[in-house]
Amino acid sequence: MRTRYLILTVLLVFSGLTQARPLIVTTTTTLADLIQNSVGSDFEVYSITKGPQDPHYVEAKPSFMVKVRKAKAIVSVGLDLEVGWLPLVLRGARNPNLLPGKSGYIDASQFIHPIEAVSGKVDRSQGDIHGLGNPHYLLNPDKAQKVLEGLSIKFQHLFPEKAEAIKKSTAAYLKTLRTRQITWEKRLKPGGQFISYHKTLNDFFLSFGLNFVGAIESKPGIPPSARHILQLIKTIEQQKVSCIVVESFFETNAAIRLQKSTQVGISVVPTEVKATPSAINYLELIETLVNGIKNCSTGEVYRG
Ligand SMILES: [Zn+2]
Repeated sequence: MRTRYLILTVLLVFSGLTQARPLIVTTTTTLADLIQNSVGSDFEVYSITKGPQDPHYVEAKPSFMVKVRKAKAIVSVGLDLEVGWLPLVLRGARNPNLLPGKSGYIDASQFIHPIEAVSGKVDRSQGDIHGLGNPHYLLNPDKAQKVLEGLSIKFQHLFPEKAEAIKKSTAAYLKTLRTRQITWEKRLKPGGQFISYHKTLNDFFLSFGLNFVGAIESKPGIPPSARHILQLIKTIEQQKVSCIVVESFFETNAAIRLQKSTQVGISVVPTEVKATPSAINYLELIETLVNGIKNCSTGEVYRG
């Protein structure tokens, strides 16, 4: 009887310990990995989208609402990336502290200056356009650092009892990230013309001095027309495009068609953490992208 009581006590203590870890929910795996490194193991960080999933289109499942209901904070990428599904998850979760405008709701795009913001009215005929600016900014290591610095301060305010630990682990991670960034910059020489499927990599290209000259989708979210493919063939020949980079969420048929006509190299790469097995965390995601550019060669398909 005593042993049973003891086991029960131990179990209760352990379940108490696991419950004690505050939960932070993020919309993407990339944000989740960056945040886990920033706040440390005293926090549980959960991403709504899974790595291989396209974060533009997600089904607002009840299980996500249950998770958000229990969370102390939710962090989104913003710039309308999650506009099709996050409002539904938040509404279903009924967590008053996590609604837009409340302290538990953090839009990470507030810490960066987005590229490609469209001034004036954006309508659906332009495709699923990112009118507020390009939401794939975390693939730019400089912007990822800015986001981490901003989030760290927010988390220190939200969790004052853990402020010192958060400050320390963020600083340690930023140091590692900067060291890795130096190695990436050494390996990727600026220059070269690139095409991608969606405008996912524009911030990555920008940070390494690589030139984006066109997207395979004629408009965001809309597959390419035959006319657009012909236009791309011209672009590849005239601008001496060295590589088509296809994000792992998208099909490669159009890129292969372009390769048959032009011999251009193709590199299929992850653009979110855990989108492919090599992108186990943010550092390896950028490493894989760098490898994808380095290993892209004429007439071949490289998979990162
Ligand atoms: Zn996008």
